[in-house]
Amino acid sequence: MKMIKLFKKAVVTIISIIFAVSAFTVTSYATVPTATVMRERINSAKASPQFREGTIYDQYKCPRCVSEPYYAAQCYGFSVALADYLFGGDECTHKWPTHRNIDLLCVGNIVRINNDTHSIVITDINGDTITYVDGNGKNDLKIHWDHTISRSALAGKMTYIRSNPQNELFSLDVTSLPVPVPTPVPVPISDGSTYIINSVSNGKPLNCLVWDINDVADFTKVNTYDRYEGDPAQRFTIESYNGAYNLKTQKDGYLVNIMSRYNSGAQAIAYNRNKDIESWIFTSCGSGYAIVLNSNPTMALTVGPDGNVTLQPYTGSSNQQWTFEAV
Ligand SMILES: [Zn+2]
Repeated sequence: MKMIKLFKKAVVTIISIIFAVSAFTVTSYATVPTATVMRERINSAKASPQFREGTIYDQYKCPRCVSEPYYAAQCYGFSVALADYLFGGDECTHKWPTHRNIDLLCVGNIVRINNDTHSIVITDINGDTITYVDGNGKNDLKIHWDHTISRSALAGKMTYIRSNPQNELFSLDVTSLPVPVPTPVPVPISDGSTYIINSVSNGKPLNCLVWDINDVADFTKVNTYDRYEGDPAQRFTIESYNGAYNLKTQKDGYLVNIMSRYNSGAQAIAYNRNKDIESWIFTSCGSGYAIVLNSNPTMALTVGPDGNVTLQPYTGSSNQQWTFEAV
């Protein structure tokens, strides 16, 4: 299961080269497949002679690294070879950046586990259940599909996640539209005013949290957190926009958005890019208001047991109810 010495040496060489040139180059990444295309490619890989269940996979040579050949073997060789297949082979999957945030785990990620001795590739994520494939998991060099593990168990054995930074495939499920669809109602807010937005379920304010993440600097995570008086990360200006509203954090002017359109479980973020920003509408709901996606009003900002905020199908339950406190 361990990477061979040749591979380690190659990694050191390549990392040195990346550091040497990183100040002068900007890596561009190929477009990530849609969830539907990714599902087709995974099924196609499962059916292929190269990657089907029980096939032996060992030596990998990167088809793109010509002047500085790159080799990988065993579990890691299989993982980067499969990633090539799933993502279309336009870039060196072995050069994807790494991070350690299990909340950002995506389908198609390569995950190193067990004290950096084994590699797996994530093939689906359904709530807490992670499905993955690996090679040489039993020291027999063979490929085995459809292992499952809980998110918390994987977090406990994870060394790092290697991911295309544009990958936002948090699941392969395409959410079917649930009922009921909420009806937008006027909320007791005024355009351009600033509010602390409190969760009815845990009493904590909506909050922007800078992630411990190496590679993506233009957004922050949105969660709920202990209240800190005067903290601009917990104050949001509400601005009308095309018949809906933008929620703008006072911390850095980022707008509340989500990482993966429409997908149940998509992480709420605050984002500084101007393109494709989601706006929000409000609907009266229990003892507060639900904050639902303008482009898909069946989906609402939802607080999880850990205080994290994700997009979930609208149910109107207390973890989707918010109160607006003017400041
Ligand atoms: Zn390469």
